[in-house]
Amino acid sequence: MSSSLFDVALIRKDFPILHQEVNGSPLVYFDNGATSQKPQQVIDAMVKYYSTYNANIHRGVHHLSQVATSAYEQAREEVRAFLNARKTEEIIFTRGTTEGINLVAQSWGRNYLKPGDEIVVTAMEHHANIVPWQLVCEQTGAILKVIPMDQNGELILEEAEKLIGLRTRMVSIIHVSNALGTINPVRQILEMARKSGAMTLIDGAQAVPHFSVDVQELDCDFYVFSAHKILGPTGVGILYGKQQLLDQLPPWQGGGDMIRTVTFEKTTYNDSPLKFEAGTPNISGVIVMAEGIRYWNALDHAAVQEHEQHLLTYATGRLKEINGLKIIGEAREKVAVISFIIEGLHPYDIGFILDKKGIALRTGHHCAQPVMEFFGIPGTLRASFSFYNTTTEIDHMVDALLVAQRMLQ
Ligand code: PMP
Repeated sequence: MSSSLFDVALIRKDFPILHQEVNGSPLVYFDNGATSQKPQQVIDAMVKYYSTYNANIHRGVHHLSQVATSAYEQAREEVRAFLNARKTEEIIFTRGTTEGINLVAQSWGRNYLKPGDEIVVTAMEHHANIVPWQLVCEQTGAILKVIPMDQNGELILEEAEKLIGLRTRMVSIIHVSNALGTINPVRQILEMARKSGAMTLIDGAQAVPHFSVDVQELDCDFYVFSAHKILGPTGVGILYGKQQLLDQLPPWQGGGDMIRTVTFEKTTYNDSPLKFEAGTPNISGVIVMAEGIRYWNALDHAAVQEHEQHLLTYATGRLKEINGLKIIGEAREKVAVISFIIEGLHPYDIGFILDKKGIALRTGHHCAQPVMEFFGIPGTLRASFSFYNTTTEIDHMVDALLVAQRMLQ
């Protein structure tokens, strides 16, 4: 049974991929943290684009180019409203979260950081919010600092207070941990950053699929996410940046569309956002991403949250019935993501048996090796839920885990 407010059966009808058997059992898809499934409306938007108005944008006078350009720019407005940004000029289309962070690290960091300047991240970052800063540290002599966490997977705010100071130039933090599910107190950390005059970036890859985000209310300088985690296609995402900052930043990549005039002696650049969108972008991806956001907007978000929190509580309780199972990450504020290990068994072996029963869980370090190192484990199994999942599916997972445990012990 699912929570009463939310008609999951009706919602599931929109997701064709969910209605299949894998290895002879009905698919149970609990790898939503890696990528979400797509509703029919999103799939249809992709088919419609390629079958009726595929064309390159911004440079054609012909009909198809105008239709495609208008849909592309309409998508920018859709994303602006989604994040409650002030202006469409503040929305840059990227390849995803990873590219958004690299863009800021290179365009801002490489040009403005000096030796001894400090960049602050957290102990639970995805590699995408570690490595781009390490690269820019090597290039500029800046230093990476890390806000530690405790055994529950919560950031230690007193330590953050000590760490964020006059040398801090950038505080770049994960909104929701993909490995642990922790929802971080980003407002408090942003406040610390503002007091010390540092810039701020939030990695929202795992936040936007679960709750509404308002960048004006957060007052962060940059916010990034990937479309594929919120009902859209892969290879496209968003960098939000405050306009006055984007105006000051130099371009990152050079090429078509990002220029105003080009001569062999000197090139002048377009204004943001086009200044940061060199070359033919992922036109279909951007347009289809907007369809995913429209689908999300039409949901009752209070009911989605209630349903997902119900899944989290139900799954946590059921998993704890299994002898030797340990949940990694028990923060007070969590999205519906559960990482766990079973004593004496390798996560990969369990994942393999679950797959034989049609159950898709993630195994491994979840691109967060420092988190695994902190907990002294090679990896975990991770069940990450979406609003289209059910408690019946959780029961299947628990049954399969018990079978796996018997087989492997
Ligand atoms: N940050 C977080 C928190 C993530 O979960 C992910 C995806 N697992 C990323 C960044 C990277 O996203 P992408 O691969 O879409 O660029």
